[in-house]
Amino acid sequence: MGAGVIGLSIAHELTVAGHRVRILAAQNALSSVSAAAAALWFPHDVARSAQVLNSAQVTHQRLQQLASRSDTGVRMRQGTVLMRRADTDTSWTCAVPQYEWLDASQLPADLVPGTGVSGVRCTVPVASTDVYLRWLHAAVLALGVRMRTTEVWDLRKVLDQENPDALVVAAGIRSAALLADDDETYPIRGQVVRLANPGLIEWVIDNDNPGGLTYVVPREHDVVCGGTGDRGSWDEQVDSQVEQAILRRALALVPALVGQPVLSRAVGLRPARTSVRVEAVAGYDRPVFACYGHGGAGFTLSWGDATRIAGLIGPA
Ligand SMILES: Cc1cc2nc3c(=O)[nH]c(=O)nc-3n(C[C@H](O)[C@H](O)[C@H](O)COP(=O)(O)OP(=O)(O)OC[C@H]3O[C@@H](n4cnc5c(N)ncnc54)[C@H](O)[C@@H]3O)c2cc1C
Repeated sequence: MGAGVIGLSIAHELTVAGHRVRILAAQNALSSVSAAAAALWFPHDVARSAQVLNSAQVTHQRLQQLASRSDTGVRMRQGTVLMRRADTDTSWTCAVPQYEWLDASQLPADLVPGTGVSGVRCTVPVASTDVYLRWLHAAVLALGVRMRTTEVWDLRKVLDQENPDALVVAAGIRSAALLADDDETYPIRGQVVRLANPGLIEWVIDNDNPGGLTYVVPREHDVVCGGTGDRGSWDEQVDSQVEQAILRRALALVPALVGQPVLSRAVGLRPARTSVRVEAVAGYDRPVFACYGHGGAGFTLSWGDATRIAGLIGPA
C-alpha cells in the first residue's frame, strides 16, 4: 500500500526478488508528499540509528548508480552542510564515501558565515522529483507491477478482498492510522519555493540558521529553497508570509538567486516518527509489514529500507 518513493522502491525490490506485486494507492507519487521533497540525500528530521545510517549508505550507493543514467533525474552534486553548534550530530558522515571538514575560513565567501560556523563538504545524490518519480513509476510498471487507485480505510478488508500472501503498509503519514497500533507518528510540515536555476550546481543546508531552517538545492530544472519544520502541524496550505521569509534567508545565503522567478511552490507533511518503522506487524491473519516514518529522509532511506522489507519477506 502506497505509491510514494517508499512504496515504489519496495515494489521494485520485491519484484526483482521474484514476487508478483500489486500497489494500492489513493494517489500516485507526483501527488504525494514525495513530490514536495528537495530531494537531496541527507538524513534530515529522522532519528539516527545504526540501522538508519546503514539504509542511508545503501541508498547513497544505489542512487549513485542511477545518477550514471541520463533518464532517472538523479545527479551527484557537491555541497555543504553548515554547522553553527558545537554539538551538531555528524554521525551521517559515516554513510558517505568521502567528506571534508571546513572551518569558517574555508567556507565559500557568499555563504556569509558568522563566527563559529563550520561545515562538512561532500558529494551526494540529488533527484529532480518530477523526473525521478516518473522514472521509478515507469520502472516498476515495466517490471510487471500492477497499480490500482483506491483509498483504503480498513486493512482487514483489503486482506480479504485482495487475498495477498503479504501486505506492506507504506502509506507515509497515514500509515499509523491504518495500522491503528502506533501513537509515535506525527507530521512535520515542510514548505518550499522553487526558483529558476541561474546555473547553480552546489547545494547548501543551514539547519541552525538563526532565522529558521534554510536550504538551497539546485536540481536539473529548478532550485528548491526551504524550508520549515513545523512539528505537529497538519496544515497543507502554502503560507505566503512563510514563503517570503524562506526567500529572504535563501537569497542571503546564496545571493546568485536574487532576481530569479518563482516557478512553483509546495507544502508537504513529512511522516515523522520516534524511529523509522520497518518491521512485521502482529495481529493479522497473514504477514503484514510496516515501512514508514521516514520524516525528512524518505529519499535518503528509500532503497535501503526497500531492501530490508524484501529481506523480511524473503524470496518468492
Ligand atoms: C518540503 C519537504 C522537503 C523534503 N526534502 C527531502 C529531501 O531533501 N530528502 C529526503 O530524503 N526526503 C525529503 N523529504 C521527505 C520525503 O519527502 C518523505 O520522507 C517521503 O516522501 C515519504 O515517502 P512515503 O512514500 O512514505 O510517503 P508519501 O510520499 O506520502 O506516499 C504515501 C502513499 O501512500 C498512499 N496512501 C496514503 N494513505 C492511503 C490510504 N488510506 N489508502 C490508499 N493509499 C494511501 C498515498 O496516496 C501515497 O501514494 C522532504 C519532505 C518535505 C515535505
